[in-house]
Amino acid sequence: MSYSFDTLKLHAGYDPKDHNHAVSVPIYQTTAYTLETVKRSDDLFYFDSSDALYTRLSNPTSDALEARLIALHKGATGAVSLASGMAAVTYALLNVTAGSGRILATARSYGGSVDSLEQVFSEFGVKYDLVEDPDDVSSFEKSIREDTKVIFIESISNPNATILDIEEIARVAHKHNIPLIVDNTIATPYLLNPFDFGADVVVYSATKGLSGHGNVVAGAIVENNKFDWNNGKFPQFSGKPYFLRSQQQKLRSYQEVFPETPFTGRIRSIYLNYLGACIAPFSAYLVILGIETLSERIAKQVSNAEKIVEFLETRPEVLWVKHPHAKGSRYAALAKKYFPKGAGAILSFGLKGDANTRRKFLEAVKVFSLQANIGDAKSLIINPSVTTHIELNPKLQKAADILPETIRLSVGLEDANDLIEDLKQSFDVAFHEK
Ligand SMILES: *Cc1c(COP(=O)(O)O)cnc(C)c1O
Repeated sequence: MSYSFDTLKLHAGYDPKDHNHAVSVPIYQTTAYTLETVKRSDDLFYFDSSDALYTRLSNPTSDALEARLIALHKGATGAVSLASGMAAVTYALLNVTAGSGRILATARSYGGSVDSLEQVFSEFGVKYDLVEDPDDVSSFEKSIREDTKVIFIESISNPNATILDIEEIARVAHKHNIPLIVDNTIATPYLLNPFDFGADVVVYSATKGLSGHGNVVAGAIVENNKFDWNNGKFPQFSGKPYFLRSQQQKLRSYQEVFPETPFTGRIRSIYLNYLGACIAPFSAYLVILGIETLSERIAKQVSNAEKIVEFLETRPEVLWVKHPHAKGSRYAALAKKYFPKGAGAILSFGLKGDANTRRKFLEAVKVFSLQANIGDAKSLIINPSVTTHIELNPKLQKAADILPETIRLSVGLEDANDLIEDLKQSFDVAFHEK
């Protein structure tokens, strides 16, 4: 019996019968688990059992979240949930590079992800390149060098909601025997399953739309075990570290120990184990709870966002509107292919005037909330160039198309007319009040 997305998001990966018949996924607030017998202890310590051993490595609450994420991505074989989206991005990129080579990314990705390439990966022996024109697939191909190990992109970018041709970019990656990692945070699995279009690994900030209520920081990595890690470029997966040996003391590789989940298995056994960004059981519970209403929330948020795009297009105070639903958007065709249910609830627009106009506008909103977050059930607003993207130098801001006049909206679940009225009265305050 194969259930559809909306059923799986409520039930997959959790059977009450295995948890004292608890209807709601229990929060296993425990550090460790009794070993009971030497046999059970050996099985746990030699990776012959997937039961929980110590909560830094796994926990029944985060296990349920991971199983649910696997179910929500057709084709997925493994997942690991983490303490934050940044942990998901960095662990995935550390795992694929393993101390050498280059990451090929775009300047449009999340500001923290782009800046981590400069600030963190350089210290781990890993270099990076940024694609000159992400809208041109040949630009990816041109930037691949001998030692490039991965292409890393976002399925919908923030704040300008640009869309990349994932399937074509995956083709370029695979032609060069490297994987494609897609940050699918803004789309969420409700709008897009990147595995359908050739992605090899999908990462999330579960802080955003997945949990959806602005009350938790969390992340996740999902794999589909399609990529050939034995092609010569990724010896880290066939290496046989001492700690992976069998009970018979035979050395084994990650692929031997985790045949279905070599990517997330390796992440769990070294990065999660030794760098330690484990998800708290309560955080995992909040993400599970959020996912129960994922489709309903995202569908209404997308519908609200599209109404706001149409409203902003009529306003004389607005220089431009960026969202695939906006008139004349260059992403309309890609949106039709990849996002038939809508291209998300993040959009940006240019506000006429100067920094003072922007200050008055941002301070005038009453329903929208001025804050550095996205994907909340409540509507959010911010001016990215001096806040969320402040870590990007002027050259990178330009490459990411972050302009001083850019205002970003993350549209929530309120009544669309109230949101539109709120923007209207804020335009009035910004442009007509002394
Ligand atoms: C927020 C975000 C991140 C980082 O996630 P945290 O949970 O804040 O660590 C990574 N990628 C994208 C696209 C994001 O929006």
